[in-house]
Amino acid sequence: MHDTGPPLIETRALSAGYGGRPVVRDLAIEVRPGEVVALLGPNGAGKTTTLRALSGALAPIDGEVRWRGEPGRAPLHRRARQGLAYVGERAVFTGLDTADNLRVGRVAARQALELFPELEKRLTTGAGMLSGGEQQMLSLARALCRAPKLLLADELSLGLAPLVVDRLLRAVREAADRGLGALLVEQHVRKVLDIADRVYVLHRGRVTLTGTPEELRGHLDTIESSYLAQETTYATD
Ligand code: ATP
Repeated sequence: MHDTGPPLIETRALSAGYGGRPVVRDLAIEVRPGEVVALLGPNGAGKTTTLRALSGALAPIDGEVRWRGEPGRAPLHRRARQGLAYVGERAVFTGLDTADNLRVGRVAARQALELFPELEKRLTTGAGMLSGGEQQMLSLARALCRAPKLLLADELSLGLAPLVVDRLLRAVREAADRGLGALLVEQHVRKVLDIADRVYVLHRGRVTLTGTPEELRGHLDTIESSYLAQETTYATD
């Protein structure tokens, strides 16, 4: 364990949603330095809403988000300056080439290439022309090379080939081994369990299962089959 201090981020009785209507309720989630935490659940369970509330992009309806032990409602841009990185779907500037995407993200190309040498031959390619996997490597390089304290990543591996997924998840694991805390929303349940330290399963806006990957392996079939069902119901009292 890298740290015995307060979690990097922690929610207490957090409710968040849209137009005053909660989508997630009563969440108690924490991420500590050095750990990879997976947030799993079917479509519509509220995973993105949870990440947005943790990042400061969405203000809580109730409860609180504590950043490094301090309660507060700092917006995303302020948390970003304090060491929070948020990687959503393919977060690249498609009008710029790879090198300029790194420059705009204030990341040295050399450092990004240490993480993903695959990008070297793509430095002068427009980011819109990169494969999905290369775009995600670029997004992740931009996030990780700025040495964030906490990474929140939303479906990093959506639609990508298994080997690329392994590559991205391994990069996150290695960064966590150097002290990063990471919360990953992932559809690749088995792959993320291979690198995660802890897991939360969200169902209809509430955490219904939590534990270590070892503890959850017995529930894998239930978790995966729940992914087949779309969730359209909001969290209710
Ligand atoms: P997915 O795996 O499909 O991305 P998710 O678990 O991330 O799903 P959310 O995207 O958090 O789930 O959505 C949860 C619920 O919140 C859904 O019913 C969705 O329609 C609703 N929702 C999401 N974004 C908004 C929004 N901007 N305004 C209103 N409702 C929204």
